[in-house]
Amino acid sequence: MPIPAGAPIVVSVNGLVKSFGPHRVLNGVSFDVRRGEVVVVLGPSGSGKSTMLRCVNFLETFEGGTITVDGAPVGYRSDGQGRRRMLDEKMVAENRERVGMVFQSFNLFSHRTVLQNVMMGPVSVQHRDKSEVRKQALELLEKVGMAEKADQYPARLSGGQQQRVAIARALAMRPAVMLFDEATSALDPELVGEVLRVMRELATEGMTMVVVTHEMSFAREVADRVIFMDGGAIVEQGVPHEIMANPQTERFRSFLGTDR
Ligand code: ADP
Ligand code: MG
Repeated sequence: MPIPAGAPIVVSVNGLVKSFGPHRVLNGVSFDVRRGEVVVVLGPSGSGKSTMLRCVNFLETFEGGTITVDGAPVGYRSDGQGRRRMLDEKMVAENRERVGMVFQSFNLFSHRTVLQNVMMGPVSVQHRDKSEVRKQALELLEKVGMAEKADQYPARLSGGQQQRVAIARALAMRPAVMLFDEATSALDPELVGEVLRVMRELATEGMTMVVVTHEMSFAREVADRVIFMDGGAIVEQGVPHEIMANPQTERFRSFLGTDR
């Protein structure tokens, strides 16, 4: 379903510049994500996709540009004279609550049960009522098909099951946007589908999502918009059936390669 142009902007990235030492890996990246929009980010390895997502969650600092989530600046505020940018820890902490992130590695706490993993953030970071959090956590586990495993430890679960718990855990914080960084890349092929299914369902329900993936069919079928990155910049973007069927640059054409 097309996202109305008037839908509020949840994530706004403006002229983002990021280097590691002398190596500039993001070279002025700008894009907006509107409420309910699913943006899929494609690009070759090393093009800066992960770094870009990590900046949105301020897991990386950045030296140029601005990012806002739900209107609030990420990481830095200006000194009021528009010159110096000051790191603001409180802003960073608040931002992390607005942004849910799912990584390639599931990163569940191994000494906590599935249910405890999902409840931990809302209870210890958001200080929400424990019984309310438990109820919500069980609903989320039901949604990702993991309610029956609520009392298991992560080591007893398959990779696909762990990743579905990781999605529930991120959702439990009630984020404004969910970021997925190659969430299915570490999974055995037969487990990819169950995780993509959960991601599709979230998209259908109107979750705002930025998804880095190599799953072209997910991009084609689920994305409202596809962004193709190369060399730390956005090279092409548009609705998937248009830009994937008709790439305008040699770089995107060769990236899509035999898959088309
Ligand atoms: P992608 O996710 O598209 O594969 P990344 O964002 O991981 O790309 O990486 C972009 C570039 O930044 C690559 O050249 C990578 O080697 C470099 N890079 C990423 N993280 C670091 C880091 N922590 N230190 C130094 N270089 C890094
Ligand atoms: Mg990456």
